[in-house]
Amino acid sequence: MKIKKLELFKVPPRWLFLKVETDEGISGWGEPIVEGKADTVHAAVTEMGDYLIGKDPMRIEDIFQVLYRGGFYRGGPILSSAISGIEQALWDIKGKFYNAPIYDLLGGACRDKTRVYSWIGGDRPVDVGLAAKLQVENGFTALKMNATEELHYIDSIEKVDAAIARIAAVREAVGKGIGIGIDFHGRVHKSMAKVLVKELEPYKPMFIEEPVLPENNEALKEIARHTSCPIATGERMYTRWGFKELLAQGIVDIIQPDLSHAGGILETRKIAAMAEAYDVAIAPHCPLGPIALAACLQLDTCSPNAFIQEQSLGIHYNKGSDLLDYLKDPGVFEYKDGFVNNLTGPGLGIDVDEEKVRAAAAIGHQWRNPVWRQEDGTVAEW
Ligand SMILES: [Mg+2]
Repeated sequence: MKIKKLELFKVPPRWLFLKVETDEGISGWGEPIVEGKADTVHAAVTEMGDYLIGKDPMRIEDIFQVLYRGGFYRGGPILSSAISGIEQALWDIKGKFYNAPIYDLLGGACRDKTRVYSWIGGDRPVDVGLAAKLQVENGFTALKMNATEELHYIDSIEKVDAAIARIAAVREAVGKGIGIGIDFHGRVHKSMAKVLVKELEPYKPMFIEEPVLPENNEALKEIARHTSCPIATGERMYTRWGFKELLAQGIVDIIQPDLSHAGGILETRKIAAMAEAYDVAIAPHCPLGPIALAACLQLDTCSPNAFIQEQSLGIHYNKGSDLLDYLKDPGVFEYKDGFVNNLTGPGLGIDVDEEKVRAAAAIGHQWRNPVWRQEDGTVAEW
């Protein structure tokens, strides 16, 4: 079998899909995207395509080695995301060739279903209590919310109180039995993160996410001294080499690699195994589309330390199109009592509606990250 063609589709709300075709009629799908940089990743995938045409799609490890190491310069969001989407498509092809879900080719299922969580509120959290109640009524047993709006290096106690009040409102609305993940979104500096984690402790968060930016991960040790809440990070970290120092330092409880950014399905399986050896859980990041989610679920199904999965159904970014819109059978992602069943179809286990993808690609998107500023005009983290 040989790779014949790569085709990219930029589709709303902010995604980029890749179709890899082979000379034997089997094709596979991937989602190579960096949110806000779809055209840049498009260019990177197109460049990598020069090497891929005519190659055997079954040799996934070898192709990864060439794309990752063969370029001399490596890593980072753009190159790693381009490889990730290509790698997902190759696994989809392999699974379809052997008529098996990908997890069957990676050791087999070690669970029957995967717990999922739902986002509540948007980037600027308001009315979160009601939103939380609604998602619990929808069957979710775990939720995630943003902790706060922009915070300066040293900020006011009023802003801290407002953040705590919102989280208290959610805890009161849903009771003790529901997991609440609190995403600091890397928008908090070390000084205020210490304050926030301490104040949050009585509300028993399921985890605190990206308490600081990943480039400031050395601060996690100090922050962790102020709380017993599990600390999570990793959505902006790439490949085994990106995660190894964090794991070796023993300062996180959960890592959140993104299968469309970290290097793909097998690379993230390796990261998950590294994490397992350090007694660290994984909760793959996925505010993306259906192909990325399918890739995550394939990994979760064969990874014993995957404890929960992010998913984007109804998320605030999904304006115009949502998670299920590009699938022929959206029932594969049916959530029941806060879980999704193992995908059983071959490859990624989803059937992409190519006609809809082509129609949506004609519309495209120009999604960009918002730019936030502090009251004094300085740039704030979003
Ligand atoms: Mg996050």
